[in-house]
This record gives sequence, C-alpha cells and structure tokens, in this order.
Amino acid sequence: MSETVLVTGGAGYIGSHACKALRSAGYTPVTFDNLSTGWEAAVKFGPFEQGDLLDRARLDEVFQKHRPVAVMHFAAFSQVGESMQDPGKYWRNNVIGSLTLVEAAVAAGCLNFVFSSTCATYGDQDNVVLDENTPQFPINSYGASKKAIEDILVNFEQAYGLKSVIFRYFNVAGCDPDAEVGEFHQPETHLIPLMLDAIAGKRDALTIFGTDYETPDGTCIRDYVHVCDLVDAHVLGLKWLEGDKGSRVFNLGTGSGFSVREVVDESRAVTNMEVPIVEGARRAGDCTKLVSGSERAVTELGWRPERSTLPLMIADAWKWHQTGHYDK
Ligand code: UDP
Repeated sequence: MSETVLVTGGAGYIGSHACKALRSAGYTPVTFDNLSTGWEAAVKFGPFEQGDLLDRARLDEVFQKHRPVAVMHFAAFSQVGESMQDPGKYWRNNVIGSLTLVEAAVAAGCLNFVFSSTCATYGDQDNVVLDENTPQFPINSYGASKKAIEDILVNFEQAYGLKSVIFRYFNVAGCDPDAEVGEFHQPETHLIPLMLDAIAGKRDALTIFGTDYETPDGTCIRDYVHVCDLVDAHVLGLKWLEGDKGSRVFNLGTGSGFSVREVVDESRAVTNMEVPIVEGARRAGDCTKLVSGSERAVTELGWRPERSTLPLMIADAWKWHQTGHYDK
C-alpha cells in the first residue's frame, strides 16, 4: 500500500497540482480542505476529507483514519490587499489554523511537515536578490501570518522534533499541461489569468498597475515559477525529510525576472491574439522587483525548474483557460 500524505488545501490551485505530483511519485494524497476558496472538482488524485483547520477534533479524526507519513500544508488565505483590510481573518485562519494543524500532527506522531510560505515574508526590499538568509520584515498581514507559522515550526521542532521543509514561493504561474487541474480563483487577482481573460474577451482589458517604476520599461518585475516545477520541489522536500536531512528553508523562484510588459508581449506571441491593455496607477503594496536567489533548491534538493519559461507557463495556462473551469 502506498504511503499517505495529508494535503491541506488540496482543492486549491497549488494543492491540487501537488496532489497530482504526489500521486505520480507513488503516494496517496489525502486532501483536507474546507472549500472556502477551493473546488471539490479539483480533488482528483486521492481521497477528500472536508474539514476546517480550526476544527481540532476533525483533524484528529483524519490523522487517525489515514495515518499520513507527512503533511503538506497549503491551506491559507493569500490575498495581500484583503489581509490589510481584515487582518483577523489572516491571523485566525492562517496562524491559529496552522497551529491547530501542527498540534494535531505532533499528537498523531506525524513529524514531517512541508509548508508553503512566501517571499512576502521578506517585505519591501526593492532591487535586492532575495535568498534564504535575507532578513524577513513582512509589510502586510499575509506575509506576517506566514512568517509567524515559520516561527511556530521552529519552536515545535525544538519541543517535539517536528521536521519541516519551508518553501518561500515567488510568483506561481502556469497550469498542469494535461489541463486536469488548473488555476481558478474567485475573484481572480493574478496577472496571467486576468490577462488571459482579457484576451478571451471575458473582461474589457488588463490594467497594468504602474508604468513609472524604476525598471527598464517602467513596469514591475517578478520571478515566475511554473506550478508543476513548484510542486515537484515539494516532492523533493518530502524525500529530503524522509532522508532525515533535517529542517530547511528553500526559496522557489528561478532567479530570472520579467516585467509586466514582457509578460503581456509573451502572451500576445503565445496566443497569437491581441492583449487589450490599459495603463493604470500603481497598486498599493507592490514592490518594484522581486527576484529569488534560487540556488539552494537547485544545489541541495536537485530541483530542475524546467517548465518555468514564460512561453510554457503562458501556453499551459492558456490551454487550461480554454478547456477547463471547475464551475462548468
Ligand atoms: N499586475 C498588473 N495588473 C493586474 C494584476 C497584476 O499589472 O491586473 C501586476 C502587479 O502589479 C505585479 C505583477 O503584475 O507587478 C504580478 O501581480 P500578481 O497579482 O499576479 O502577483 P503578486 O506579485 O502581487 O504576488
């Protein structure tokens, strides 16, 4: 019988791709999700247990039933703007929910933990290549909540021997090339899916948030990583823990940055369609440039982010955009 991994947020964008990768690697992914932002139709690669991270009794039940060898913890709220308007929602769900999960894992003797953190924990350090040793000064409640969970994991290792691999994501993009699962947020706030909506005529235009940044073309620069590469790193992280290599933090980005205009131009080339754009004001909270120092995952985990080129990320997202949405 294959080993089981508990995947919180397995009905969401990244979690559903992780379930597919785990399944391909020979594990049984058990999705734990409250469906607040996820889709039951995205749970395709293993059992589904509906539940909320704040419900300790439900978590205990699921740990007892499935006896996972590890937890992959994706379930979280992740919108920066919302986190500033409603910090309590982020601290309660992300931090108290994660604390409840970690306590349940320790009680069940499940001591391998893979956690999805974010480059938002670094804060606003424009024009700096961010590596894992860069000090973390989050500037929004979302980043602060993820940083707090990282701290919880350190303390639970000291007290109970919980081992963790923490991944700090840069900009996750693209979709499963088979389009079995994909990116579908309601509401959508991310650049590439919004742009594809504009190309497909589902919205009037893409607004470029700011054209007066100190970058070569005036628009913000981000480090985009393909979701399939990202979840492959998680499987490598799981094997790292199973190999008793100890707790470790890894950035997940490619080290290359692309501006919003470059993403727009590439989308035009990939889809062979016009991209209706409007140049707008800066979006509050946006950094000029966020690019990962990404060597550690490559050298230590053996990670090879091979699909993380702009043309592939956009082509895979476009394929999903044309073929699959969970509400249909
Ligand atoms: N962006 C934009 N228009 C949009 C959405 C995003 O110009 O409608 C820009 C945004 O300012 C940032 C980049 O695209 O520079 C990536 O934004 P996204 O929200 O996808 O990810 P974030 O970097 O905020 O995590």
